[in-house]
Amino acid sequence: MNRQLAESLVQQFGSPLLVLDCDIVRTQYHALQQALPNVDLHYALKPLPHPAVVSTLLAEGAYFDLATNGEVDLVASVGVPADRTIQTHPIKRDSDIRHALTYGCNVFVVDNVNELEKFEPYKGQVELLVRVSFPNADVLADLSKKFGCRPEHALALIERAFALGIRIKGLSFHVGSQTKSGEKYATAIRRCQAIMNQVITAGLPPLSTLDIGGGFPVKYTPDVIGINEFCAPIRQALNELPETVRVIAEPGRYIVAPAVTNIASVMGQAERNGQTWYYLDDGIYGSFSGLMFDEAKYQITSLTQSTEIYPAVLAGPTCDSIDVIADSILLPKLANNDLIISSMMGAYCSCTATDFNFFKRAEFVVLNEQQNQVAMHSA
Ligand SMILES: *Cc1c(COP(=O)(O)O)cnc(C)c1O
Repeated sequence: MNRQLAESLVQQFGSPLLVLDCDIVRTQYHALQQALPNVDLHYALKPLPHPAVVSTLLAEGAYFDLATNGEVDLVASVGVPADRTIQTHPIKRDSDIRHALTYGCNVFVVDNVNELEKFEPYKGQVELLVRVSFPNADVLADLSKKFGCRPEHALALIERAFALGIRIKGLSFHVGSQTKSGEKYATAIRRCQAIMNQVITAGLPPLSTLDIGGGFPVKYTPDVIGINEFCAPIRQALNELPETVRVIAEPGRYIVAPAVTNIASVMGQAERNGQTWYYLDDGIYGSFSGLMFDEAKYQITSLTQSTEIYPAVLAGPTCDSIDVIADSILLPKLANNDLIISSMMGAYCSCTATDFNFFKRAEFVVLNEQQNQVAMHSA
């Protein structure tokens, strides 16, 4: 972000800010769509549940992956047709099921018999995906620990559903967020194909859908490979599936991480132990919560230009000692009110922010939002 834009946004809207550029949302969506042709991309709202992201993606032809009633309400308020959505929380209350069904979303995820039985009252209305777990040690968040049935137990669950008269539409998995290699997906896809074959051999109705989840990585650091190369093994494994299987994915982070830039201001400063501490108006309890919960690396720079740089500490505004964003970061001498710009802050940042100590959360400013989705639907 250039200096002029950052300064004018802060002048108009105050500080701290999260600047959401919908053009980048579009670019990311199309890059992933190109890397995974014939895969229907369902944006997982969890990393950035913002209406401008939803309306932008809807206009581009995306689908949506929901996990909570709040997410159902958000897509409904933006006018997303319910048949473009799936509800993928593996553990639901009856009220969650009813809320999604009232909206018109009828695809849900289960990974055990207890959950399956919750759908008995709705068996004529719903289609389920069985979530399978594939443990993945080298990701930021290994979601296979918390959710998913083991591949060798999938057939029994599907047989149970059939006995109860509940339709199983297909299989899903999530290899974990910010995954390092596309091979993880390829292995999972081939294992799922084996389960699909077991289902046919058992004489049950064939499964029609494979949901390969989210987890696609973004370049927090230069060593992360580009999305097209990352998806090469996935494309190869998908090519081996019968053409009748519809493949969908649930990208979250990849779509939004690069689309948001944080602008924070220096509130004050102090010299401590040979370093300058700059206290910003946003921190660990605010937009930088991802440093705590997500272990992501953001690119942090100052707008102040100088050839002389010094090691400094960037701290958040609260009175808590853990509220430090960066230690020994090299920066020019900053004045109070100077701006700090942090990029790649679209995923798992604002959604986990708090207003601890009554420091208000950063406000969103939306750039390049188009308002053409209404026209698209009436067509
Ligand atoms: C969090 C989540 C996603 C999105 O994962 P990313 O790593 O952000 O792409 C997709 N599906 C489910 C079920 C999730 O819980």
